[in-house]
Amino acid sequence: MPYSEQTVQSVRPWSKQTFSFTLSRPQDFAFENGEFVTIGLKREGKLVARAYSIVSTADRDYLEFLSIHVPDGPLTSQLVRIRPGDSVWVNSKATGSLTLNHVLPGRTLYM
Ligand SMILES: Cc1cc2nc3c(=O)[nH]c(=O)nc-3n(C[C@H](O)[C@H](O)[C@H](O)COP(=O)(O)OP(=O)(O)OC[C@H]3O[C@@H](n4cnc5c(N)ncnc54)[C@H](O)[C@@H]3O)c2cc1C
Repeated sequence: MPYSEQTVQSVRPWSKQTFSFTLSRPQDFAFENGEFVTIGLKREGKLVARAYSIVSTADRDYLEFLSIHVPDGPLTSQLVRIRPGDSVWVNSKATGSLTLNHVLPGRTLYM
């Protein structure tokens, strides 16, 4: 099973459509700043998971994410209700190409 059960540490609403939250960081979970990982919630034993950019930096002992709230979205309609102490499942492998070592030398960086 590539997913491990992690604990919600904090939740912060930013608007009706956006919120952020922090999770405990899986042991041995390595990533580069800019990568994303698949996270999810279990409903009736079934995992509903989606890709999320990790917004905390790699030197932290927690993982932070910023999420949209899609009212009828399979994941975020439930994720918006998480509270400290709840469980979120985190894939063991982060990936992505929005990392510094993918930036080619140049004078202007468009983001
Ligand atoms: C590489 C990657 C990284 C991602 N990183 C994030 C992230 O950091 N934060 C985040 O909230 N989502 C992110 N997403 C989108 C995320 O995976 C889910 O689609 C989103 O959380 C909604 O999940 P859902 O199951 O509720 O609805 P879904 O069924 O997945 O989506 C429902 C509808 O909402 C739209 N939608 C999904 N995400 C967004 C968004 N962020 N802004 C506007 N419309 C959207 C979809 O296009 C779709 O029409 C990322 C997706 C990818 C591929």
